[in-house]
Amino acid sequence: MAFDFSVDPEFQVKLDWMKKFVKEEIKPLDLVWPHDVFKKFTPQQEAIIAPLMQAVRDQDLWACHLGPELGGQGYGQVKLALMNEILGTTSWGPRIFGTQAPDTGNAEILAHFGTPEQKEQFLAPLLDGKIVSCFSMTEPQGGSDPGIFTTTAVKDGEFWVINGRKIWSSNARWASFFITMVVTEPGAPLTKRMSMFLLPADTPGINIAYNFGVEGEGPDDISEALIHYENVRVHESAILGGAGNAFAVAQTRLGGGRVHHGMRTIGRCQELLDQMAERVLSRTTKGELMSEKQAIQMKIADSYIELQQLRLLVMYTAWQIDQYQDYYKVRKDIAAIKVQMTRVYNNIAQRALNIHGAIGTSTALPFVQAVRGAAVMGLADGPTEVHQVTVSKQVLRDYKGSPTTFPTYLIPNLKADAEEKLFGKSTTPRVPDRTDLQAK
Ligand SMILES: Cc1cc2nc3c(=O)[nH]c(=O)nc-3n(C[C@H](O)[C@H](O)[C@H](O)COP(=O)(O)OP(=O)(O)OC[C@H]3O[C@@H](n4cnc5c(N)ncnc54)[C@H](O)[C@@H]3O)c2cc1C
Repeated sequence: MAFDFSVDPEFQVKLDWMKKFVKEEIKPLDLVWPHDVFKKFTPQQEAIIAPLMQAVRDQDLWACHLGPELGGQGYGQVKLALMNEILGTTSWGPRIFGTQAPDTGNAEILAHFGTPEQKEQFLAPLLDGKIVSCFSMTEPQGGSDPGIFTTTAVKDGEFWVINGRKIWSSNARWASFFITMVVTEPGAPLTKRMSMFLLPADTPGINIAYNFGVEGEGPDDISEALIHYENVRVHESAILGGAGNAFAVAQTRLGGGRVHHGMRTIGRCQELLDQMAERVLSRTTKGELMSEKQAIQMKIADSYIELQQLRLLVMYTAWQIDQYQDYYKVRKDIAAIKVQMTRVYNNIAQRALNIHGAIGTSTALPFVQAVRGAAVMGLADGPTEVHQVTVSKQVLRDYKGSPTTFPTYLIPNLKADAEEKLFGKSTTPRVPDRTDLQAK
């Protein structure tokens, strides 16, 4: 039986290189440019960042979510999980390694469904780390229910004309292109109602009406866009994956994106646990180290246990994706990760903040930001509740209801069955069902 948690020594060398590189070369970027990850680089940033990206390429670690045909390494999801744990401790890490959301998912869509010209114009510079992109799906009237999306494209000869509004289109102001989900077949069932359009950012009619910020960002950093699509006219070749196929196309990006968030969250939570550990081993109260207090020990223990559970779930799911090469087949566990990573991140961030006392609430430490990050994680890529619905549906599809009024697992009935099997007759009275009564 193959059941192995070891990392092959060659890849461990890569991971060790990554850990050192992230600590020494990338963490400083987080400190000096915390909000610039998706912006166009300044000449000073370009001079510092280009050699770092090259160093990653030289190690064969660039864009590892992709197969070799697209410039990645084809390492698979399990190895990617180990890498993303390291990258998750930084904001800049994924950009320097060519694995940042939402560009990873958009690259996967373009790779699968783009024409050769579209790939040359957008995929190549995206994979090169030269440009960033935007995924524009959520609408102001409600993101959880695509059934109420109203942004529409109407056919006009060889062209489509798009009108409507999208919101929370991350990084729109810096993006070179948008992948936008639009109703093209209004009368069709939901899963065949929409199409995915590739829109160059300079297409006339794409108007950013407002940028929302998330807590902690300055006015130059905010980039959660409300976009008005006003008579946006594009050639029919802008549809990716065929008209009416947006749901199938979206699967290409959303499944992987969520698992990768899970992988990075593990790294983030491990760092919070490390910080808690240092604090409780440094600070004394009522005559002893905080680490000696049982209430503190419970927080440390629960954080470790929850993190290990999440890690196992993520690794198991990554392994399944490698086995089946099919995100859809693994959707139950992908949705489970989405639910659980939010909870674990929130729990550990809250504990870390609490253990640090007042300074934990300050901007001198990362804990308020982490709590906010967990809240965002519970919404971006779909709210927790929607993923719980997915998990529940997938779990229940393998079951069926009892054929009688009572549960099939009533102990007296099971015991009567057991006695009949073992002794040829039973002395335990069965709980009668209505069908038994009718038979009498
Ligand atoms: C920082 C950030 C970045 C984002 N980036 C992008 C992006 O790049 N592109 C993009 O298209 N979108 C993006 N989103 C949007 C995100 O996908 C939506 O916020 C999400 O789908 C929820 O939609 P909503 O905000 O309209 O909330 P609503 O749909 O109004 O849901 C609000 C709440 O209602 C409850 N709820 C909703 N549905 C159900 C249900 N079926 N059962 C039970 N309870 C339910 C949940 O508690 C949920 O949290 C981003 C969001 C954030 C916060």
